[in-house]
Amino acid sequence: MLIIMDARANQEQIQAVCERICEMGFKAHVIPGADRVAIGITGNKGAIDKEPFLSMSGVIDAVRITKPYKLVSREVKPSDTIVVVKNARGAEVKIGGDELHIMAGPCSVESEAQINEIAHLLKAAGVKILRGGAFKPRTSPYAFQGLKRKGLELLKSAAEQTGLLVVTEVKDAESLPAVAEHSDILQIGARNMQNFSLLEAVARYDKPVLLKRGLAATIEEFLMAAEYIVSNGNPNVMLCERGIRTFETYTRNTLDLSCVPVVQHLSHLPIIVDPSHGVGLWEHVAPMSKAAVACGANGLMIEVHPNPAEALSDGPQSLKPKKFIALLRDLKPIAEAVGKRLNVNALNETKSLELCA
Ligand code: PEP
Ligand code: MN
Repeated sequence: MLIIMDARANQEQIQAVCERICEMGFKAHVIPGADRVAIGITGNKGAIDKEPFLSMSGVIDAVRITKPYKLVSREVKPSDTIVVVKNARGAEVKIGGDELHIMAGPCSVESEAQINEIAHLLKAAGVKILRGGAFKPRTSPYAFQGLKRKGLELLKSAAEQTGLLVVTEVKDAESLPAVAEHSDILQIGARNMQNFSLLEAVARYDKPVLLKRGLAATIEEFLMAAEYIVSNGNPNVMLCERGIRTFETYTRNTLDLSCVPVVQHLSHLPIIVDPSHGVGLWEHVAPMSKAAVACGANGLMIEVHPNPAEALSDGPQSLKPKKFIALLRDLKPIAEAVGKRLNVNALNETKSLELCA
């Protein structure tokens, strides 16, 4: 159930509705909108009688939410959610509006030299968010598992030198406090999309979450996972389409770009596309990045490595710096064609190329 408040409703009236909801044993979620406040009710097993709310002052309507996910649905909040990512050093980006953002960097942080080189390249290119795995979820227990805490420190140091924001994966509850200390966005990997206790745990942090779609998750399951985070108190969720398992074996996954408009129809949350894990082959990352921007994605996550042949993870899908810079240049007019801005200076090619010589 969603209680719609009058545009002129005051704080006391909003508070009174919230208290009424709590007295009934349910949870109230205040959802500020462009023109008015709405209050979502969760925790009820069956239908709620709307009459008692309709007689309260400041309330104009009470509507049933038909979808199983409530707080993340467009029914509850028609306007797009803008997620603000910021750090204590004053860096800030807004994701979900008309600006497109790129999160880029290596699959894994491998060394100080590697992450610093990429961070300086991104900085020169005007990219604002550095990615890099420190705690890696690997299919094989014998594969490189990440530099762990050391990796987090290297990421933070690279970000401090360049003014970039950081996104890195939270693999489990044990590493969550350390990740939250070093990262500006908490990434939930595809393999953990339905790790419900981890979703509840990240919801307790005052940091935006990047939730990746599970390898075999339907869009409804994806949105239900986001609902876990939002209903537990963290509204700053960004979804990330990163490819799903299909019968196709040529590509690593099948990048489901139809997920972008479908999610935008069903939910107000921003959606990012990760074409690197989506296709698994660097040759196809650029075309799928362009397609993702064309179909309305709010941002991209792209793996970039100075020397993919030597990468400790996901080398085959990593772009070399030069190719990445060329891609940024190509994305700019595509973003503009769909009413978005891409504020990068891919265009300062000489400087960028020097940095990755
Ligand atoms: C990653 O981004 O490093 C990663 C492991 O991605 P995914 O969870 O989508 O496989
Ligand atoms: Mn990877």
